[in-house]
Amino acid sequence: MTNSNTLVIGCGIAGITSALELAKMGYKVYMVEKNTNIGGKVASFCCKASSQCNKCSVCLITDRMVEVRDHTNIQIMTDSEVIAIEGKGGDFTVKVNGNVNGNDPEESSKKDNIKSLSVGTIIVAIGIDVFEPRLAPQYGYGKYKNVMTALELEKFIYKHDSINRPSDGAQLKRIAFIQCVGSRNIHFNKYCSKVCCMYATKLSEWIHDRIPDADVTIFYMDFQTFGKGFMELYDRYTNEDWITFIRSKPAEVYQIEDDLYVRYEDTIKGEIVEDTFDIVVLSTGITPKKDHKSIARLFGLELDVDGFFSCQSSLETARTNINGVFLAGGCQSPKDISETISQASLAAADAALFLERAK
Ligand SMILES: Cc1cc2nc3c(=O)[nH]c(=O)nc-3n(C[C@H](O)[C@H](O)[C@H](O)COP(=O)(O)OP(=O)(O)OC[C@H]3O[C@@H](n4cnc5c(N)ncnc54)[C@H](O)[C@@H]3O)c2cc1C
Ligand code: SF4
Ligand code: SF4
Repeated sequence: MTNSNTLVIGCGIAGITSALELAKMGYKVYMVEKNTNIGGKVASFCCKASSQCNKCSVCLITDRMVEVRDHTNIQIMTDSEVIAIEGKGGDFTVKVNGNVNGNDPEESSKKDNIKSLSVGTIIVAIGIDVFEPRLAPQYGYGKYKNVMTALELEKFIYKHDSINRPSDGAQLKRIAFIQCVGSRNIHFNKYCSKVCCMYATKLSEWIHDRIPDADVTIFYMDFQTFGKGFMELYDRYTNEDWITFIRSKPAEVYQIEDDLYVRYEDTIKGEIVEDTFDIVVLSTGITPKKDHKSIARLFGLELDVDGFFSCQSSLETARTNINGVFLAGGCQSPKDISETISQASLAAADAALFLERAK
């Protein structure tokens, strides 16, 4: 007999979206989250509004986090991981290790560590990691305090609603973003991470809005402008005098006294140029997580050439090689938040269809 429960692994925006869709259709959903908090990466991102909303989609997480915690059809297990799985689509038995009694303090105090769940379908939504910037040592990450990743910048602005020079708190005047760090690179990841051109320009506008005297330079190889309204935004930015786009992959970042120097080739003049900045932000690309390999082994899931979970086709991005196991969000390929939400809804619809057909 088919079990009509679903297990969602990962409580980022993808897992939360899939769980809510299924719960609203009347299905019982268990959610397993490795961290203590739900929300994934997006829960620590800043609002990128300037004088107007910049449509970064980050605020879409807030109501969903409340809704998923309150939904009576959803049980969330934080600090938990799947450790074993048996059975087949329609009838899986999954063992979960961790805070398996969810957020109910009375239940949690019973301190069970391993729980066995019976589910008919599983949605894997374990998300993404970012490229380790120390693997590109020419940019000085870890060596110079004023070289940071975009993820660190996001989290800093989210926490402090401001940004100063990390080494001494000085007001910023010159900011550089280096794009494609660890992406579109034959030595690391060949694919485009899809979101970093968008977040770098929106973060730049946020900085300009708070510090109007600051100038931003974006070093890019090729600008990714897909996504609704982003091309128009990019066109607007290219006509502003506070932001400069330089088509070049910088060779090196080094520091003399308080200044960071970025050395790059001006491909139009054919010259090597050096500009100085207060901070350099590395737009590190999106990568698979270490968990991709362990979950792939545990479930028998296939990985694609880049290390993300393989889907059946470009039109069936939620379907895997295992009957009854579906994919949601960034764990299948890099996506922005709105694409993640659409694809996670598709995963929920596929899971519901599977459960109905298997009845
Ligand atoms: C620096 C940066 C800035 C960005 N800014 C924007 C932006 O402004 N706008 C935009 O649209 N997109 C932005 N993005 C893209 C955005 O981060 C992704 O679209 C989004 O995070 C994808 O959500 P997800 O749920 O698939 O993954 P995640 O956010 O990574 O969530 C995955 C969840 O699964 C959990 N998990 C992982 N492994 C396990 C496991 N084994 N067991 C249980 N749980 C597990 C994690 O703890 C996490 O809670 C940005 C990305 C980066 C790197
Ligand atoms: S978080 Fe993004 S989408 Fe939401 S209000 Fe701020 S800029 Fe607009
Ligand atoms: S989105 Fe932009 S910065 Fe990111 S990998 Fe693609 S081209 Fe490079």
